[in-house]
Amino acid sequence: MPAPSIRLVDRVCRHLAYLGPPRDLATLLLHPPHSLLRQSFAPGDMRCDAVVNADGFGAGWYPEGAAIPVRYRRVIPIWADTSFAALAGAVRSGAVLAAVRSATVGMPVTEIACSPLSSGRWLFSHNGMVTGWPDSMAKLASQLPVTDLLTLEAPTDSALLWALVRRRLVAGETLGQALGTVTAQVLATAPGSKLNLLVTDGTTLAATAVHHALAVRLGDGGVQVCSEPTDHRAGWERVPDGHVVTATPFTVDTAPIPSTTAEEP
Ligand code: GLN
Repeated sequence: MPAPSIRLVDRVCRHLAYLGPPRDLATLLLHPPHSLLRQSFAPGDMRCDAVVNADGFGAGWYPEGAAIPVRYRRVIPIWADTSFAALAGAVRSGAVLAAVRSATVGMPVTEIACSPLSSGRWLFSHNGMVTGWPDSMAKLASQLPVTDLLTLEAPTDSALLWALVRRRLVAGETLGQALGTVTAQVLATAPGSKLNLLVTDGTTLAATAVHHALAVRLGDGGVQVCSEPTDHRAGWERVPDGHVVTATPFTVDTAPIPSTTAEEP
């Protein structure tokens, strides 16, 4: 008898990154009128089957003067974590990446699957899903060193995407190059995938918009990238589909994702 299987349902999380003058996490993530907290239970632009992002959340930040980020992740909804609300008001940082998760059906609901995923000085998040998972990714995954596969942060599409991106960062590619190349490779092998990827090293961030929403705002000495604008202030720009954004607190560069194939090294 074949093993029971669950159809991968299309669900998409929400994520946000900020670089700029140090601000407390509550001001960044909880207080804005359409904050990440609000987007967890009342998102405005999900473009998928999900209604809420209740399968956990995570925040990563670089303590002032530190090159290596700290993470706080939980497998409960962000709105249910009173400890985080208190912590967020007391923690300040000039580089933050956070996400609320709506687990793709068939993938584990566990703390280690919550973004940001991390390695060394990098923080990473993925909004979306890889079509045909896991078979569609077998060939690309086989290009990774076995130890990378054995040490995936979680058994999810997002964690494999992070391993593919991380290998390129370690090899010296820029954040934007690594995201753009991996996104193009995955689209070539798993067309229709939703691949909003987000990565930072604490001084620069890069983010892709692929079949899902993304907005960027430069202002007040900093830059913010989010699945949906967090407030109604002027300056939010929608990132066009199929583009990668690279940003610092004072610059935003948006470029089309170059096409490539799964075979490219
Ligand atoms: N597929 C990823 C996961 O399950 C991301 C989910 C999402 O964006 N909804 O963690």
